[in-house]
Amino acid sequence: MTQNNTIDRRTFLLGTAATLAASASPRVLGLASGDSAPADVIVVGAGLAGLAAALTLEAGGASTLVLEAQRRVGGKMLTFSKVPGLPEAGGQSIGAGYGRLIAAANQFGVKLVDVLPGQMKHRDVALILDGQVVSREAWATSPRNPFPGELHKLMPWEYAPMVFGRSNPLQRPEGWYEPANAALDTSVHEFLRSKGATEEMIALAYNTNTSYGTSAHDVSALQMFFIESWGRVQRQIQPQYVYKAADGNQRIPEAMARALKGTLRLDAAVRAVDSADSGVTVTLASGERLRAKAVVLALPYSVTRQLAITPLLKGVQAEAIQTLGHQPITQFALVSRKPFWKQDGIEPSMWSDGLLARSFAHREGDEVISILVTAYGNKATILDRLGREGAAQRIIAEFEAARPAAKGQLRVVAQHSWSMDPWAAGDWAIFAPGTVTRFMPAMYAPHGRIHFCGEQTAIGNRGMEGAMESGERAAIEALDVL
Ligand SMILES: Cc1cc2nc3c(=O)[nH]c(=O)nc-3n(C[C@H](O)[C@H](O)[C@H](O)COP(=O)(O)OP(=O)(O)OC[C@H]3O[C@@H](n4cnc5c(N)ncnc54)[C@H](O)[C@@H]3O)c2cc1C
Repeated sequence: MTQNNTIDRRTFLLGTAATLAASASPRVLGLASGDSAPADVIVVGAGLAGLAAALTLEAGGASTLVLEAQRRVGGKMLTFSKVPGLPEAGGQSIGAGYGRLIAAANQFGVKLVDVLPGQMKHRDVALILDGQVVSREAWATSPRNPFPGELHKLMPWEYAPMVFGRSNPLQRPEGWYEPANAALDTSVHEFLRSKGATEEMIALAYNTNTSYGTSAHDVSALQMFFIESWGRVQRQIQPQYVYKAADGNQRIPEAMARALKGTLRLDAAVRAVDSADSGVTVTLASGERLRAKAVVLALPYSVTRQLAITPLLKGVQAEAIQTLGHQPITQFALVSRKPFWKQDGIEPSMWSDGLLARSFAHREGDEVISILVTAYGNKATILDRLGREGAAQRIIAEFEAARPAAKGQLRVVAQHSWSMDPWAAGDWAIFAPGTVTRFMPAMYAPHGRIHFCGEQTAIGNRGMEGAMESGERAAIEALDVL
């Protein structure tokens, strides 16, 4: 079966599932006689990528079976649904250019609300250094401030985005991974040094609370250039807004799953996939074997690498699937008995050089109703090693040390470590220096009848929208060979 899979660049970057669904002509597929396959295509993983793949496959006329290891869908879309303000443990901000995700929410009846006005109103972040609150004024003259001249006024978290914004050699995000950009595929450390940053500046401004890598040495500057230029495109879209699903972002994949025509099996972890000329065989952890014409693996590579895939993957693709980094992130949702921020007069959103890392206050109107603490990289790993209880105690202890008014007030009411989550084994993809141009696009090329997607394979978008984009691409590839 063939399918015209030509997607123009604009549709791909700002496209919608609806656009693609409308362009794919429905078709009916017959199973070969004696074929025991439950569906034309098995999709492994019911995160956004897998669900977008399954819906696109169905729009193209293929029957699908979605296999999900957990008892819920959504993967890295996880709302702390019992916490006031519904903080997100996973995918949070839906930007103005998230065409596919917004279309899916609209199509499947998930109400979105614009949280940008609230974010703009409450932008202050308190700086915590060595366990002490440091005001903006005190920071400008602090002996710990490593920034020279006028840069002295910058808060630590403002420096790296400023340098990437001013000195990004990528004019546009398109083609960021192409070999022509290999010279840019060096470390963030090398890039920042070339722009005049000292080791002290990098240590504070990048390494302390980075959401990409554990330090500036282990992430490619090219990945950061793509992120910066993609973010710029997002910010240029008018009108500007930042959406969140009114009842939590997890409701979006749940609604997508309800819209599937095919079967969705929860609690169905896959452990092996074999591709042959005649079709694929997918083996569940239970030992059950299922056959189909093709399989879409909609998993992060941190878990794809745990599957037994035959024939064996080769070359760069094998290396990429085995070694691609996935960011350690651990989240804690806290509530406070009393509004300690009114007592000490300091904003509850914080940036800390301790394990407290970053905290973000959730508000109802102007009232703070919960606080989300996010630890990245090595800090997340240290907290994970303390165990759930130990990590929660440590977060509260750091909070109380920095904010004595919070003593005895705080409770951790929910927490999630993405590294400890066996079905995630880390968060978004981290490309080490030199690997962007070496791994892409070979790392997601079809392997026989096996097709790969997931956020890490997106080329035009990031995060949630990237996951959706990748699912569509893998589905179209699979439709082509059915
Ligand atoms: C803290 C945090 C904040 C974020 N913030 C944003 C943001 O603001 N904006 C943004 O765009 N993105 C954000 N993201 C990223 C976004 O949530 C993800 O990129 C996206 O949801 C990934 O979707 P996916 O389908 O590629 O992978 P996943 O969501 O990881 O889906 C994979 C699925 O496969 C399942 N699975 C795993 N192994 C197996 C197996 N062996 N058999 C069967 N099933 C299996 C998993 O259970 C899971 O459901 C954030 C993520 C996190 C964690």
